[in-house]
Amino acid sequence: MTRVYLSLGSNIGDREAYLSAAVEALRQLERTRVTAVSSLYETAAWGKTDQDDFLNICCELDTSLSPQVFLQACQTIERDLDRVRHEHWGPRTIDIDILIYGNEKQKTEELTLPHPYMTERSFVLVPLAEIAPNLLLDGKDLVFYLGKLEAQEVRKVPWK
Ligand code: ATP
Ligand code: CA
Ligand code: CA
Repeated sequence: MTRVYLSLGSNIGDREAYLSAAVEALRQLERTRVTAVSSLYETAAWGKTDQDDFLNICCELDTSLSPQVFLQACQTIERDLDRVRHEHWGPRTIDIDILIYGNEKQKTEELTLPHPYMTERSFVLVPLAEIAPNLLLDGKDLVFYLGKLEAQEVRKVPWK
């Protein structure tokens, strides 16, 4: 089994329901066990800012699916949850990004690991630090990377 960290986000419709449904679908995946789910965090959109606020979470899981097969499973879950438009950085019912897949390092358009923007996004680092406080990236902990970012408001909100 390989330890995997995901970032999930939603900014259309019942955002919390989409996130819950995505976590439930991850729990149903074969050869996969979800081991932690963060609190919900609300943030203004990043990158393309003329859109509604996002709710984001991070998940920890163990899987014996390969990175490519796991990515396809995430994309199937996105499609099943009404992710129709595929505008880069645009609004979406659900987005599932693979942040870390074990010690895997690769850089292709289809799959880049670790996720290339993870250390630039407070909405990724804050929920990730909640569920994986001891995680190191290139020998540095997540608080180190958070300290290098401009302040971005990431509000913790209770699950319903
Ligand atoms: P960003 O990756 O900057 O957060 P995005 O999530 O808006 O942008 P998408 O439109 O969801 O981008 O995905 C575009 C493509 O990114 C996907 O088709 C997928 O093949 C590819 N991709 C590359 N690396 C990853 C990764 N680590 N996790 C998920 N998708 C990835
Ligand atoms: Ca994304
Ligand atoms: Ca994505």
